[in-house]
Amino acid sequence: MNETNGLPVLWIVVPCYNEEEALPESNERLKALLRQMISDASVSAESRIVYVNDGSRDDTWQIISKAHHDDGIVAGINLACNVGHQNALLAGLSVAAEHADAVVSIDADLQDDINVIKDMVSLYAQGNDIVYGVRRNRTTDTWFKRNSALLFYNIMKWLGVRSVYNHADFRLMSKRAVCQLLRYRETNLFLRGMVPLVGYRSQCVYYDRAERQAGESKYPLMKMINFAIDGITSFSVKPVRMVFNLGVLFLAASFVVFLYSIFRYITGNVITGWTSLMLSVWFASGCILVSLGIIGEYVGKTYIEVKDRPRYNIEEVIL
Ligand code: UDP
Ligand code: MG
Repeated sequence: MNETNGLPVLWIVVPCYNEEEALPESNERLKALLRQMISDASVSAESRIVYVNDGSRDDTWQIISKAHHDDGIVAGINLACNVGHQNALLAGLSVAAEHADAVVSIDADLQDDINVIKDMVSLYAQGNDIVYGVRRNRTTDTWFKRNSALLFYNIMKWLGVRSVYNHADFRLMSKRAVCQLLRYRETNLFLRGMVPLVGYRSQCVYYDRAERQAGESKYPLMKMINFAIDGITSFSVKPVRMVFNLGVLFLAASFVVFLYSIFRYITGNVITGWTSLMLSVWFASGCILVSLGIIGEYVGKTYIEVKDRPRYNIEEVIL
């Protein structure tokens, strides 16, 4: 442990993609919070706010490096290109594991209540390795986002994936929890499903989620749907099992159809049947295509995973 005077070194890791509008305000608020925590002697003076620039195309990195030069409490990690929220967060965690005793991850738009970080740190001091930030309600989300999220959590639960309901990527992790997480080598990252697998002692803190502070969501609908599909297929092989069960069902059904056709043949009524034929051709082809698609998804995932490519590429770290 590199705790100074017995106080834990806290890193607040913030992934940023095109966040030039939200960053200045978020930075002021995070700095004020961390300063206060340092003067309250709940964390070490070595604590930092660390922005991970995920290949932004705007002035995000310039803002981060200026903030670092103005104030040493701010640090930055510049990724060579955009790798997505989850990978950017992992890059931040991997650097944090070398310097910090505890790491909090939070989005740059500060939709999550930063004051809860204090509660997270005191729960960490009480011996918890993971503290999940959980939204008390979703009233600030649109009707669509709220309900699609609900559906997603329910599907995940049904598929047997352990995840914390209404928890996104706002959490505290101890150094040893982060080190353990880094040993999960998968390329298709779904951190909120992976962290519970680490299994160390954990707690939840509850908060109300605010509106995005500035700028717009970096998760448009398609990205959100893709993220959900990744989450499901990275954690569960149940869909493949379903394809198999569907196949069994079809075999059983075709046996019934077989008996029925024999019966019609014997009773001499064989010309009519165009409707049922067309229906079954279309229905069966649909099922086959869907099944192929599901299997293809897993084959594709396996292909990506075996390549074992690096998940991010750090260009520069300013500490
Ligand atoms: N983000 C990122 N890389 C990306 C997309 C998003 O680092 O490719 C960051 C973004 O800057 C923000 C966080 O991920 O800090 C969450 O994004 P956002 O708030 O837009 O998502 P939402 O809250 O709308 O789901
Ligand atoms: Mg947001």
